Amino acid sequence: GAGVVIVGAGQGGFQLAASLREAGFDGPVTLLGDEPGLPYQRPPLSKAYLKGDAGIEQIELRPAAFYTQHRIILAHGRASGIDRARRRLLLEGGASLPYEHLVLATGARNRPLPVPGHELGGLHALRTRADADALKSALAGTRHVVVIGAGFIGLEFAAVARALGHGVTVLEAASRPLARAVSPDMSAFFVEAHAAMGTRLLLGTGVVGLAGAGGRVTGVEATDGVVYPADVVVAGIGVTPNVELAAEAGLEIANGIVVDDHLATADPAISAIGDAVAYPSRFAGGRVRLESVQNAVDQARCLAARLVGRSAPFEAVPWFWSDQGDLKLQIVGLAGPTDSAVLRGDPASRRFSVFRFRDGVLTAIESVNRPADHMLGRRLLAGTPRITPAQAGDEGFELKSLLT
Ligand code: FAD
Repeated sequence: GAGVVIVGAGQGGFQLAASLREAGFDGPVTLLGDEPGLPYQRPPLSKAYLKGDAGIEQIELRPAAFYTQHRIILAHGRASGIDRARRRLLLEGGASLPYEHLVLATGARNRPLPVPGHELGGLHALRTRADADALKSALAGTRHVVVIGAGFIGLEFAAVARALGHGVTVLEAASRPLARAVSPDMSAFFVEAHAAMGTRLLLGTGVVGLAGAGGRVTGVEATDGVVYPADVVVAGIGVTPNVELAAEAGLEIANGIVVDDHLATADPAISAIGDAVAYPSRFAGGRVRLESVQNAVDQARCLAARLVGRSAPFEAVPWFWSDQGDLKLQIVGLAGPTDSAVLRGDPASRRFSVFRFRDGVLTAIESVNRPADHMLGRRLLAGTPRITPAQAGDEGFELKSLLT
């Protein structure tokens, strides 16, 4: 047969290929990617790889021999269309690949900076290894770095740039950093932490345009009227899911490729996983699109099981991490913007957690340098958590007692 064809050789696509073989799938597996080289992990791009603490071999998901050993065909190229009636994936350049089952693991791409001057040299984004390599070499000899957006990637990059000795200014339009992902308490902690690293973090400060000379950026003009000098600008203002293939094939899109709780699209021969996908989640109380390694990996495993006949709904507990300087932030669960926050431990000790509750029910735990709270949260949230806000806030209360 034509086997499984996977579009996108990133975190999710790689995991699906590997998990299919692990699960005993014997048919052909083709992993099509449009980036050069072997599939790699993105998280180190804004952490150890950028800093120079990890090389290419450390970020590659597996060495080349793995793919031959497991009969995974790594194909380089870009899919340009899907012929659903004939079950063929169309490739740029005119070739096509037959499939029995097609999996879209196309990920997301950076949102372009929508201001005048975005074409200037010196403006960078951070999504791919190529982006990280370009940024790494641009940083050599740089004096002023301006980061646009205090999300995870912006703040991780800022921490690395400070550690490398650069002057760093972060401009954030919202009133707090990481606003979409964490509680106000956690945002406040990261404001202090980045100030202590020597980063200038300006909140409520949007970007009007980039100033330049000779085709290169020289500064960032902000809504406060100031032009912040910059030789390197990094924009981290979010991503857009890569849904075009699915959309043009007539599949439903709603902030992502719409799938059911088995990660299937409306076409029984097409599934989708990872950053590109909007799926129904009890944690979100509806459809959600998540951008995390956990989400891509767990969805890949769930789909691999289905493709070898062990079908089960996707119910994994969402979790995420971010490393900024010596701070490890871990988040488990999904909190809503109005969920309450209960502090466990003292932020001044740089080891604490924020427990989030809705109507008295635990929805998420945000932990800094407290991996035990995080791991416990994964187990609690997999079931019906019975922890009360009072227990969460009482360090004398043994969280482990909730598991027995
Ligand atoms: P991707 O890994 O993005 O892979 C999609 C691939 O598909 C890409 O290579 C893309 O080029 C390719 N593609 C798209 N369209 C086509 C086409 N038509 N034809 C062929 N190929 C195509 N997550 C965490 O949990 N923790 C972290 O600390 C963390 N840090 C991160 C740091 C950075 C700098 C970045 C960019 C992301 C980080 N993430 C982190 C997020 C995590 O990397 C993503 O959630 C994960 O990679 C999603 O996997 P995916 O397979 O859905 O997409």
